[in-house]
Amino acid sequence: MKKIIIRAGKERSLQRRHPWVFEGSVQRGGADAGETVRVESAAGEFLCWGAFSPNSNIRVRAWSFDEAQRIDAAFFEQRVQRAIAMRQRLPIASDALRLIHGEADGLPGLIVDRYGDTLVAQFLSAGVERWKPVLCAQLLAATGLTRLYERSDAQVRELEGLPQQTGWLQGEGATEIVIQEHEWRLSLDVAEGHKTGYYLDQRDNRKKFADAVRQYGSKSVLNCFSYTGGFSVAALAGGATEVISVDSSAPALARAEAHVALNGFDAGRHRSLDADVNATLRNFLKEGRQFDAIVLDPPKFAPTVAHAERAARAYKDINRLGLRLLAPGGLLFTFSCSGGISPDLFHKIVAGAGMDAEVDGYVLDRVGASPDHPQTINFPEGEYLKGLLILKA
Ligand code: SAH
Repeated sequence: MKKIIIRAGKERSLQRRHPWVFEGSVQRGGADAGETVRVESAAGEFLCWGAFSPNSNIRVRAWSFDEAQRIDAAFFEQRVQRAIAMRQRLPIASDALRLIHGEADGLPGLIVDRYGDTLVAQFLSAGVERWKPVLCAQLLAATGLTRLYERSDAQVRELEGLPQQTGWLQGEGATEIVIQEHEWRLSLDVAEGHKTGYYLDQRDNRKKFADAVRQYGSKSVLNCFSYTGGFSVAALAGGATEVISVDSSAPALARAEAHVALNGFDAGRHRSLDADVNATLRNFLKEGRQFDAIVLDPPKFAPTVAHAERAARAYKDINRLGLRLLAPGGLLFTFSCSGGISPDLFHKIVAGAGMDAEVDGYVLDRVGASPDHPQTINFPEGEYLKGLLILKA
């Protein structure tokens, strides 16, 4: 077994069971991509077993902090089963859910979503790439399913020195799937959609939005960064009479329109706008438009803390515009999925936007990702999605 020796003083985060070893913390040692290594402190103490990644800034991702643990097929089987068993205990109002959420499930770099009878997996680190055949067999066995599609076409694969890979790993046939989420139905294409096809992490927030639209009687709703219109369908289900979905992806908007019909809503209650959100918000402001509810769910502006400052300005900008466009008593459901922006910082950014817009608001709810995208106590980076539901004063 190859050994990786950590610089003196850099072993502390591993001792607290944080699962990453950065390049700068490695004193010496190396291995092949994905190979299991023994990580030791400069003083020779065992720290963890992990997967080596020669190209990544995250040089080792920990598999286990237990020296007696063997990293073999049985180890992965136990991790897969633990993750699936945890999901079975959760209240999930859908037949689509995240089964494996990377580090939080002790499988760094592995994402697996289930859409009805189809599994979709992303292998995003050298470690899980190396164990792919084993993991695939275990995922299929543990779920009893026969269809597994690979979507390893995320940018982070490049950082790991891995090529993009997509296609059926098991099974075949249509990549178009219809799922049930709360009281509505949604379609997706596991081969063409963003990520694995759909944003499952917002499931419970869509339901909260539908409930808030009903509770506060919102009629006109602007859904910014709508993707395939999940929040738009929620707004219609909540009783909105005029919903606008804004996104820069034409295929996503076509699907949003299809979702209006799929759920039996009158097409006249929904409009889609293929445009840049920032420009759209400015145009509406110039026109003097107002909305009863606005959703802001932008893509990740700050992948890491290093991007936080520029991202903060971008978040503040759209939130300022959103708050100004809200009618008095209107609802803003605003999100950040940037790991580099903490919930506290996000709140401060929105506070700053409120100051600039000269608008005050009540925070009705502070939300995160649905519980099938869990966080663990050792890995604060796992907290990425945060949202504030605000009632304009
Ligand atoms: N709210 C969605 C998920 C949003 S993901 C849901 O519930 O499913 C972010 C979306 O923002 C993507 O669909 C992407 O196409 C879109 N997007 C990114 N930059 C944009 C921009 N400048 N203007 C409009 N849409 C943008």
